[in-house]
Amino acid sequence: MAEKRDYYEVLEVPKTATAEEIKKAYRKKAIQYHPDKNPGDKAAEEKFKEAAEAYEVLSDPQKRQRYDQFGMAGMQGASGFSGGGMSMEDIFTHFGDIFQGAGFDLGDIGEMFMGGGRSRGPRQRRGSDLRGRVTLTLEEIATGCEKKIKVRRLIECKDCHGTGSADGQTETCPTCKGSGRVTRAQRGIFGMMQMQSECETCGGEGRIIRNKCPKCGGQGVVRAEDVITVTIPAGVMGGMQLTVPGKGNAAPHGGVPGDLLVLIEEEEHKDFVRQESDLIYNLLLDMPTAVLGGQVQIPTLTGDVKITITPGTQPGKVLRMRGKGLPRIDQYGRRYGEGDLLINVGVYIPEKLSKDERKLIEQLQSSPNIAPGAADKKNFFRNLFGI
Ligand SMILES: [Zn+2]
Ligand SMILES: [Zn+2]
Repeated sequence: MAEKRDYYEVLEVPKTATAEEIKKAYRKKAIQYHPDKNPGDKAAEEKFKEAAEAYEVLSDPQKRQRYDQFGMAGMQGASGFSGGGMSMEDIFTHFGDIFQGAGFDLGDIGEMFMGGGRSRGPRQRRGSDLRGRVTLTLEEIATGCEKKIKVRRLIECKDCHGTGSADGQTETCPTCKGSGRVTRAQRGIFGMMQMQSECETCGGEGRIIRNKCPKCGGQGVVRAEDVITVTIPAGVMGGMQLTVPGKGNAAPHGGVPGDLLVLIEEEEHKDFVRQESDLIYNLLLDMPTAVLGGQVQIPTLTGDVKITITPGTQPGKVLRMRGKGLPRIDQYGRRYGEGDLLINVGVYIPEKLSKDERKLIEQLQSSPNIAPGAADKKNFFRNLFGI
């Protein structure tokens, strides 16, 4: 069996996280890897279970303390710890409430696993999530920005105000009497069993429409092009996903709309390479400037600046301009400072020389301060490679 990952790492929370933060983090993971969203995906199922195990420990103050003190070893044989052997049913039974308001129906999955019905009222539908993406420049990431995304999505039908009914009237479903569910008796191995399932007449909503809205065909939603403004906080990173609540597909008959999930992508920058919140700039000096020192101009995200090169600057030196990188944000998008601009210094050795240039270099070659001594050699490689 593979080595278990650290529980804090699994939920991506700091060791100092509060109970509320842990719950939030678990909810996020559980929704992300929910089997409903990842049908048939074994890897997602493993992640789902892994998150549940981490939550099982970190949500229980006693178990958490023990884990903090002794690590994974402290959990062996701890009372009430499943050791990650929780089945999907267990997870839904114990932690099912985490999904409330998450938009998909836990009950359905619970039933799938437990083979039984759970009584509920008529169901309110939720619209599906939509996905979009934005490509950002480093300048945009540095300041944060607003982006408009064009999406085709289901929106509420204006003609019927989302009800789906031409006259605004709905009737109680005659099949289920408004409960949204039908009960029937079925013979099972233990005798007759009561089975509940969704009412097919009303699709579980408990209401039916006699006079359907002609515009939307009774659905209450129509497909339309929409432009959504997404606020991008400073410091985001490629691969992150932002959620714009309620901007996914509208739900039939006035249910809860889905979300718009926006994937962040980064545009390559002509000058900088990003390393988390630091920026890296490659500066190639000409030989005389490296030897004599001087001023050189370099770009930053807020405009060009002049920096001083000290005489005798060796190739491989890294200059650091503090705070000239990108905003640092934590996993909740809170800003906590700025990264640096790191300047990698190289020295260009000319490859083509004129006759005169060649003569000058030849003169230099025999000059006493040009050849490195033993100490110079040692320092140079130690500075460059650390050895
Ligand atoms: Zn309509
Ligand atoms: Zn019905």
